[in-house]
Amino acid sequence: MRHRLSRTTARVLRSRGVEIRTQTSIGQLTSRGLRLTDGEFVPTRTIVWSFGVRPDPLVTDLGLAAEQGRIRVDEYLAVPGVPNVYACGDVAAVPDPARRGKIAPMSGRHALCQGGLAGANVAASLGYGSRRPYRHRIQDSVADLIRTPGQPLRAA
Ligand SMILES: Cc1cc2nc3c(=O)[nH]c(=O)nc-3n(C[C@H](O)[C@H](O)[C@H](O)COP(=O)(O)OP(=O)(O)OC[C@H]3O[C@@H](n4cnc5c(N)ncnc54)[C@H](O)[C@@H]3O)c2cc1C
Repeated sequence: MRHRLSRTTARVLRSRGVEIRTQTSIGQLTSRGLRLTDGEFVPTRTIVWSFGVRPDPLVTDLGLAAEQGRIRVDEYLAVPGVPNVYACGDVAAVPDPARRGKIAPMSGRHALCQGGLAGANVAASLGYGSRRPYRHRIQDSVADLIRTPGQPLRAA
């Protein structure tokens, strides 16, 4: 699926005149442009950076059950079978109440919501208040690439 998505993205971008370079990276940025690691200089004043995210490799060293490289937790952010251990944010595979069967994406907004809840649920485990499951009203954002040719790309 990932390869299919990559191929489609590459095809759409190329059909719009975007030149795609692989097997190289940005080695240096200057006020006049960028130098690729293969030595070529590309004059530009605008840089748009797209990136992926991944959980901290520390997760795999902990020996806890993991899902997609993130620590498996229940809806209370508690690690099942390990008393008094909670996880949240990028390192945690938190069930997403808005998308049944999926885990919450790695984003700052989810991490903030989960951080507050983790603190409250830790306090509840010590007898202060009652624990709550993860709920949010965060809407995912998408980048829409499949528009009528000639229209600019847009983020929704
Ligand atoms: C370039 C970039 C842009 C992004 N832009 C957005 C955006 O626009 N909107 C959005 O919602 N999200 C964005 N994100 C994602 C967002 O930053 C993360 O989802 C969010 O920071 C996760 O928060 P966290 O607290 O779980 O982890 P982090 O913010 O990664 O915090 C983890 C902390 O733990 C520390 N740490 C790691 N290992 C150890 C250790 N062994 N001992 C002690 N401390 C340790 C780290 O130094 C770090 O300070 C972006 C991410 C990147 C990389």
